[in-house]
Amino acid sequence: MRVALVSDIHANLPALEAVMRDLDNRGGTSALYSLGDMVGYGPHPNEVVQLLRDRDALCVLGNHDAAAVGLISTEAFNPVAAAANEWTAAQLTRETAVYLGKLPEVAIQEPFTVVHGSLRDPLWEYLVTHDAARAQLAAQTTPYSAVGHTHLPLIAWDDGTGVQAHQPGDEETVVLRSPSCINPGSVGQPRDGDPRASYAIIEITESAATAEFIRVSYDIDATAAAIRTAGLPEPLATRLASGR
Ligand code: ZN
Repeated sequence: MRVALVSDIHANLPALEAVMRDLDNRGGTSALYSLGDMVGYGPHPNEVVQLLRDRDALCVLGNHDAAAVGLISTEAFNPVAAAANEWTAAQLTRETAVYLGKLPEVAIQEPFTVVHGSLRDPLWEYLVTHDAARAQLAAQTTPYSAVGHTHLPLIAWDDGTGVQAHQPGDEETVVLRSPSCINPGSVGQPRDGDPRASYAIIEITESAATAEFIRVSYDIDATAAAIRTAGLPEPLATRLASGR
C-alpha cells in the first residue's frame, strides 16, 4: 500500500496544490491522511478543506481546526495566532465548519494511528522530546503512527534498546521499523528553515516499509499576497519565505 501524509496545511492553498501535483507526478497513492491544522494562519481555509474532501482524505482534528469552530478557546494561542483564528472563524462556510466540528482527534486505519499532536494529548503535545516519543510508541497499538503539530519532519522508532529519532532531509527514504512514529513536516508553514512544502509517502510491501520525505516548491508570493489582501497579521506573510 502507498499512503501520502500531509499535515499543518494551515489554509495555504498554493502549497497544498503543489504537493498534490507532485504526488500525482509520482504516481499517486491509494490513501491520503491529513494530520490536522488544515486551517488557521493562512488565507484559504474553505478551499483547503474542500480540496482534501475532494481527494477523500482521512482527516483528524488539529488545535487550529478546533479553535476555528469554537471547540477550544484561544487562550493558549499567541496574539498573531488568535487574530488569525478570529479571521478564520468568520470566513468558514457553514459546510466547512460542520465538517471540521465532526473530525475525530484520533483515527486508526491499520497499520496506522493518525493524530495531530500525540496520543496522550491529541491536540496540544509537541512530539519533540525522547520522553514524548517513548510515550507515543508505547501507547500506539498499530505498527506506525503519524503526527503533525511541530511543523518539523521527524521519524522516531524503538529499536529494542531505546527510542531513536532522526530528522530526515529532502528526498530521504527511511526504512520503517515497528513501532515507529512519522511526522511529515508542514505543507503550509514549514519551520525547519526550508520554506518548501513538506510531505511524506509511506510505501508498505510484504517485505519492507519505507517513508520518503519530500519537499516541494510552491508560489510563496501568491500565498503571502493573499494573506495581506485578507488583512491577516503581516508576520504570517513574511515567515513563509524564511521557513520559520
Ligand atoms: Zn500547525
